[in-house]
Amino acid sequence: MHKIKFLLFIFVLLVASCTPQATPIPTPIPSETPQPPTKTPEPSLTPTKTMTATPASTPTQVWVRNGPGIVQCPILLYHHVAISPIESQYYVHPENFALHMQALDEWGFTPIPLSLLVKAITEGAKLPPRPIVISFDDGRLDIYENAFPIMQEHDFIGVFYIISSGLGDDGLVGIDELKEMAAAGWEIGSHSYSHADLSTLDTDASYREVVNSRYELEQALGVPINSFAYPFGTITELAGAQVHTAAYESAVGLGHTHTQGPGNLFYLQRRPISWDYDLKLLALVLGWEGPINLEKP
Ligand SMILES: [Zn+2]
Repeated sequence: MHKIKFLLFIFVLLVASCTPQATPIPTPIPSETPQPPTKTPEPSLTPTKTMTATPASTPTQVWVRNGPGIVQCPILLYHHVAISPIESQYYVHPENFALHMQALDEWGFTPIPLSLLVKAITEGAKLPPRPIVISFDDGRLDIYENAFPIMQEHDFIGVFYIISSGLGDDGLVGIDELKEMAAAGWEIGSHSYSHADLSTLDTDASYREVVNSRYELEQALGVPINSFAYPFGTITELAGAQVHTAAYESAVGLGHTHTQGPGNLFYLQRRPISWDYDLKLLALVLGWEGPINLEKP
């Protein structure tokens, strides 16, 4: 009896030792599964560290369709980005300008070409969550020297309005600089022929400022000039009609809202930014309600 029991025991042992042999196939799975748990703690740690969400928010910007019709998009207007030799509201210190650009970057604003805003208004287009247009008037050389490289650091593009008769003059940008900026994605617009106050001009003189300036710039630069900026923000009925004669796609003026649409496509609202704009004021203008202090010192 003992022998039989013993044999049975051996048999059971054999069967038991055999069955696990049949299952070594799953063993790779357990040997793999331990790996993810050792990995997961890492990412779960990083979010807690980077609760600031700066890295997380930038890549997850989803562009959604806006328009056709009214689009909310601030358009900033700068003149000089340089150390002012005189008391002038038109000069923004390069260090201050750098802070503005850093703020736009950290606050999640994305500079878009003016043509994209126009497309959104007229036919609808995908825009980033906080679109913004950064524009410059008068064709100052310091924009090329100071603003352009600062914006390049952030992969930002701008719109530069040029006075056609001043191309290459002292203190103003020339053809080479503008071609370089256009190649980097900037758009160039006309800021008239001589920066005259359009309200003081007769038909022919106004035509030269509004219509001819477009073709002169296009010929000189070899890039499309599709937008006009009224000198001093002054629009007249005549100039408004001539903007259509010249077949501009849009025109820009001055204003305090971000509401851009078919009703003001030929007088888009731009907010002039002067020397005394600190980040608090910039935040106020942009309706930014998040933290104002910048991450990077
Ligand atoms: Zn101007």
